[in-house]
Amino acid sequence: MAKYSHYKIGGPARFFFESKNERETAWALREAKARRLSVFVLGGGTNVLLPDSGFDGLVIRPVITGMKSGRKNTIEAGAGVPMEKLLAFAAGRSLAGLEWAGGLPGTLGGAVRGNAGCFGGEMKDVVVSVRSIDPRTTKIVERSAKACAFSYRESVFKQAGRRGAAGEIIIGATLALAPGNRREILRSVREKIEHRQRNHPLEHPNIGSIFKNVPLASVCRSKRSFERAVAVGVLEFRGSRFSVKTDPVPVISAAKLISESGLRGVSFGGAMISAKHPNFIVNALGAESRDVKTLMSLAKLEVRRKFGVSLDEEVQTV
Ligand SMILES: Cc1cc2nc3c(=O)[nH]c(=O)nc-3n(C[C@H](O)[C@H](O)[C@H](O)COP(=O)(O)OP(=O)(O)OC[C@H]3O[C@@H](n4cnc5c(N)ncnc54)[C@H](O)[C@@H]3O)c2cc1C
Repeated sequence: MAKYSHYKIGGPARFFFESKNERETAWALREAKARRLSVFVLGGGTNVLLPDSGFDGLVIRPVITGMKSGRKNTIEAGAGVPMEKLLAFAAGRSLAGLEWAGGLPGTLGGAVRGNAGCFGGEMKDVVVSVRSIDPRTTKIVERSAKACAFSYRESVFKQAGRRGAAGEIIIGATLALAPGNRREILRSVREKIEHRQRNHPLEHPNIGSIFKNVPLASVCRSKRSFERAVAVGVLEFRGSRFSVKTDPVPVISAAKLISESGLRGVSFGGAMISAKHPNFIVNALGAESRDVKTLMSLAKLEVRRKFGVSLDEEVQTV
């Protein structure tokens, strides 16, 4: 699976299937059910840590890549469309609203599931509806944006249980954009890409931010200190000074917590906590999954020890 992972990490899958449409995806799910195989869905592999030992089941990679523009400035796109292509498609039709996703790697399906976001935008701002396949019935389910229950890096597709849709395979989504100026859209997208090139350790394989930023409310002692921190944009916390980001909710940066715990540039095996952006653990030199997991545990441990804060994983470990 390393070949399909942005991290270049991951052992063999017992079965691996690329589905080109809904019918093939439903067929693969039926086969998995009949053979009692566990299923894992892989998008662009930009947010997953895959095991060195491989996956003893069926990996389904939806490569459903159709895109069409519809009425009222909408775009219908398949789950396997790379975000970069979706942005180019929107810009080509002078449709604005996705510029925040400039340089966001991965597929539409992965972005919807995790309500990907950055630079003040999130998938939830543009999604009208999502189509997915329920693995139990292999029937198609269509949900409105409201029914997707999007919140910070969350959606119904990450929730297990009766009300959740974990395990469903997203096959496509309809997005609502707005008329814009093509040049302006392209300029804005380019700005985001350049920001990422300056600030992210893109020279090494990585899977983006390992941990979610930490909700400000969870580290403030009172409502008053919370409101003050939001107003001045700064929080003094256990001897360190944190900027308060409000994208999309008030948070302090996981990268800063890791850095202030003295872990900037620390390496284990082939993996390294990036010195450039400490919420990235990069594959510096032939890293294995367990090297990354060791550094993740170290970051959690040290941040908890120094700040009493529990870091919550943003990436999916398999
Ligand atoms: C350099 C870099 C920068 C990044 N910056 C950001 C950022 O600014 N903001 C942000 O939010 N994220 C960021 N990420 C993380 C990542 O790009 C996003 O989370 C992306 O949306 C994941 O999409 P993917 O297709 O690669 O999903 P994958 O990594 O393949 O999968 C992620 C999860 O989604 C599930 N999944 C994938 N496709 C489907 C589907 N069709 N149906 C159901 N489940 C599915 C997988 O099973 C897995 O659990 C960054 C990553 C990198 C490498």
